[in-house]
Amino acid sequence: MIFDPQKYALPDVPGRMFLDAEEIRGILRTVRPPSLDELRTIVGRSMDNRRLSLQETAALIAADDPEAVEMIFDAAGRLKRRTYGNRIVLFAPLYIGNRCINNCAYCGFRAGNGAARRRTLTDAEIEAETRALEAAGHKRLILVYGEHPAYDPAYIARTVRTVYGTKEGQGEIRRVNINAAPLDVDGFRTVREAGIGTYQIFQETYDPELYARFHPSGPKSDYAYRLLAMDRAMEAGIDDVGLGVLLGLGDWAFELLALVRHTNHLEACFGVGPHTISFPRIQNASSLNRTTLAPVADRDFERMVAILRLAVPYTGLILTAREPAALRDRLIEYGVSQIDAGTRLEIGGYTSGSQRQDLDREQFELSDERSLAEVIAGLNGRGQIPSFCTACYRKGRTGEHFMEFSTKGFIKRFCTPNALLTFAEYLEDYAPEALRTEGWRRIGREAAALEHKNELECRLERIRRGERDLLF
Ligand code: SAM
Ligand code: SF4
Repeated sequence: MIFDPQKYALPDVPGRMFLDAEEIRGILRTVRPPSLDELRTIVGRSMDNRRLSLQETAALIAADDPEAVEMIFDAAGRLKRRTYGNRIVLFAPLYIGNRCINNCAYCGFRAGNGAARRRTLTDAEIEAETRALEAAGHKRLILVYGEHPAYDPAYIARTVRTVYGTKEGQGEIRRVNINAAPLDVDGFRTVREAGIGTYQIFQETYDPELYARFHPSGPKSDYAYRLLAMDRAMEAGIDDVGLGVLLGLGDWAFELLALVRHTNHLEACFGVGPHTISFPRIQNASSLNRTTLAPVADRDFERMVAILRLAVPYTGLILTAREPAALRDRLIEYGVSQIDAGTRLEIGGYTSGSQRQDLDREQFELSDERSLAEVIAGLNGRGQIPSFCTACYRKGRTGEHFMEFSTKGFIKRFCTPNALLTFAEYLEDYAPEALRTEGWRRIGREAAALEHKNELECRLERIRRGERDLLF
């Protein structure tokens, strides 16, 4: 099938993309800080389950005096608890190969980086890495690839099937997401047929000029082809897509509005917004030239997450181990709903046993090096429920964040019980003794507070007796 970008052009302006950088710059230039009353009205709209417009989101960005910022954080926290409850979904990245024909200026894998050690896992190595991840307790992975002709759709589909087909004891991977170079519609069909969960790709920056500067050569230098990747994925039947920007290239406020614009576009054209949004900040990488970067300060980063929570209430927000543990813990309170844990970025890093990071073998530097067990103990201690739930995707409930938000009682009926069931499996199969005792106590308290507790308690007992994968 030949993809026709015109199909996604603005109806009144032939050839122009749905995302207009000038329009976004204009909104940011002319927005004025809202009064506290105006702010209350905007926040009230989010709390009323409504996605915010570009202008409303820009007003939240402009609201930067301490009282206004406090109101935004408070509302984001309340919305987060109401929409997602107190559960956090856990996953791990599995780097398959770092061959790459692009030259993204910020990335250790870029073609021109002679210091990078190139490696692509064999099928047997993918199995071994998967077994190691299962042995730690993981159920959800995201496979990550450089961009290279060797990593074509058939290859990607094979690696996905290899992961699904690898089981270790009680362990299995129940959801495989991918982060791979944009494909054409047929390519997306091929990877969809392998059973991927989310297709994730970051635009890096939505500013076309900056984009050109940071992506000087290779297929990734085509801004429009990347921008329309999600349209092609959805045309191929992939309902769950993950957007993202790489913070540190340009103005975070611009990127935030562009993410909202991209979300609106997908909702308008396909009836479903992105499943997740990611907002990684640039980390140190092999031979990285920092002089061209525009780092985003912690305080701005935290505001951005809270504003995003309010602007796109039913999109999952991902925060990776690029960020330090304390910041991740804090941002979970204001909007983040998924984190990775026990992450290794070195290709083959889950089986190599190496404890030290080596930037020439990795894409960038990690800040949060806690193991999965440590992250889970921390979440449990702070009143969060660690979740490995994959139920909606496997029961065909795609677009589930929207359901969580709009279907009365959805969280109590599905999300919390499924989180508790997967937490119970983890405790039985993988947890250190102290965490196991503490975790089961916690599960007892959480289950007792639920309306449909009888059926849940019955399933929890079946898990104690050795049954697995009892999803609602
Ligand atoms: N090669 C594909 C691509 O570029 O889309 C997929 C994977 S790439 C390995 C995953 C993401 O890592 C990139 O989209 C980019 O946002 C992020 N990344 C690259 N260099 C980084 C760095 N130095 N610090 C933090 N994130 C980085
Ligand atoms: Fe290659 Fe992706 Fe790194 Fe760019 S970000 S150099 S495409 S691996």
